[in-house]
Amino acid sequence: MKINLNLVFYAVLAAMPAIFPFSSSAGEERDFDTSYCSITYPDTKTLGDFFFRIGGRRFNFEDDTALARSRADRIIDRVMAILGMYPKNFKVRVRLYSEYSLGSIASYDSKTDVVTVYANKVTDGVFAHEVAHAVICKYFHPNPPGKAQEILTQYVDKHLWDDY
Ligand SMILES: [Zn+2]
Repeated sequence: MKINLNLVFYAVLAAMPAIFPFSSSAGEERDFDTSYCSITYPDTKTLGDFFFRIGGRRFNFEDDTALARSRADRIIDRVMAILGMYPKNFKVRVRLYSEYSLGSIASYDSKTDVVTVYANKVTDGVFAHEVAHAVICKYFHPNPPGKAQEILTQYVDKHLWDDY
């Protein structure tokens, strides 16, 4: 049987994003995509630390990108279930930095729709809290007042795994 090499080449190319969800652009920063978020990270060590700190067990995420993705997505699933809010086609950008320096240890900016977290400070609760802000802001228009959001987001991070 004769194999059309061009077709094989394009098939491999088409499958690339699934095999390597790391995209590298001109800069040093890269993106790692899950079902619910697109994580912009500076280097692989920082991204590995992030998955370790939100998931509790260290593993080489490059060996198991499915596990890495599910660590972020299952937290976001929990956030939506606790709130009972499921914004359509929910997707949020996560800006990951290696080290915390000043200001809040995490944040969500509803104007830019970006969650900011630091790999040396983030926990599952911290991540859930900021994602909860994103879920609430996408669910309600206009966005609820900050105080009302805090009541809900703090409830989410305190009870993240209560009925899990
Ligand atoms: Zn908050």
